[in-house]
Amino acid sequence: MAAADNDALIRFQQVTKRYGQGDAEFLALKGVDFSVSSGEFVSLMGPSGSGKSTVMNILGCLDVLTDGEYYFRGVPVSELDRNQRALLRRNHIGFVFQGFNLLARTSAQENVELPLVYRGLNKKERNRLSMAALDKVGLGNWAHHHPSELSGGQQQRVAIARALVTTPSILLADEPTGNLDTERSQEIMELMAELNREQNLTILMVTHEPDMAEYSHRIIHFVDGKVDREEQPQGRG
Ligand code: ADP
Repeated sequence: MAAADNDALIRFQQVTKRYGQGDAEFLALKGVDFSVSSGEFVSLMGPSGSGKSTVMNILGCLDVLTDGEYYFRGVPVSELDRNQRALLRRNHIGFVFQGFNLLARTSAQENVELPLVYRGLNKKERNRLSMAALDKVGLGNWAHHHPSELSGGQQQRVAIARALVTTPSILLADEPTGNLDTERSQEIMELMAELNREQNLTILMVTHEPDMAEYSHRIIHFVDGKVDREEQPQGRG
């Protein structure tokens, strides 16, 4: 199923990441190779400390690698300057976090609109796009509610709508169900699987829960700063 490497949306080639210097030096990634094609839904799994967050931070242009290369649509990201990386992040990458990270004092719709404010869109356009994004996650009727009036599952839906409102090339989800009970978790995973299937949304998700990884096409297991193995979830052919 994985496309040839040069078709990859994102590709890590022998990526290393060193934190600190001298005695405090720590090699968090030790030569990581993997790629994700457009339209794939991939899970990253592995023990705590195995490097998953480091990978996500580099992918999201929140941090830079030490050695090797990160290609985004074939473009070597380490050759981009700070501003170009910020544009790549803003224009192509959507983030969803375990803790939802919504602004408490603003409505669901205002939360979803925020990335569009940064893009300088006018109120009418922001309104149209944020309502469409809330509809996509099944919250069209909740637009004017504040996060405290929403369940955890609904808050994560708002966060997904906020990530999607800019039509990113990839959604990076860091333990998106980590704060939710089993039933809400399954609803969120069904929503993500549907967005992947019906809107061709590319998703890369970190999860500790095998049941959640089952929703993806491919699982990449990390151990000690390296890819240990890749597998297809059972139940997928
Ligand atoms: P995971 O997400 O799989 O739990 P991380 O990517 O967070 O793993 O961490 C990988 C390793 O890098 C861990 O041993 C962690 O302590 C270390 N690490 C992460 N961030 C930093 C940092 N800013 N400075 C020093 N070490 C770090």
